[in-house]
Amino acid sequence: MTRQLTIGLVAHDARKDGLVDWAKTHAALLAPARIISTGTTGGRLLEALPDLDVTRVKSGPLGGDQQIGAMIAEDRMDALIFFVDPLSPMPHDVDVKALMRLGIVYDLPMAFSARAATILLKGLEAPGGG
Ligand code: PGA
Repeated sequence: MTRQLTIGLVAHDARKDGLVDWAKTHAALLAPARIISTGTTGGRLLEALPDLDVTRVKSGPLGGDQQIGAMIAEDRMDALIFFVDPLSPMPHDVDVKALMRLGIVYDLPMAFSARAATILLKGLEAPGGG
């Protein structure tokens, strides 16, 4: 029996529309996955795609990025797709950095923009999980 894929989906405010558009395009591939999102991102995803299996943790600036980081450390995440805003300073920049760092420590497949996310998602779908 294969385990349900767990994918972290997060977007900074300026990239939330982009993530929602991307998720709509790839809804069929996302449908079987368990999705973990930070609070506001998850709300936007559920609004647009109510049938997705989205679990919301706290909002990023309030600890949500760290909650997802903990899931990576506990081997409870299969991939992270994070639409990062590279042009705005963020109060929780250190949390985002820590999240990315843990992803690297645990060799988690990660993507930070739309085209990379598409390649990652298609790779995860491949037999054997890519
Ligand atoms: P949010 O958090 O989805 O609650 O906005 C994302 C972030 O800014 O890290």
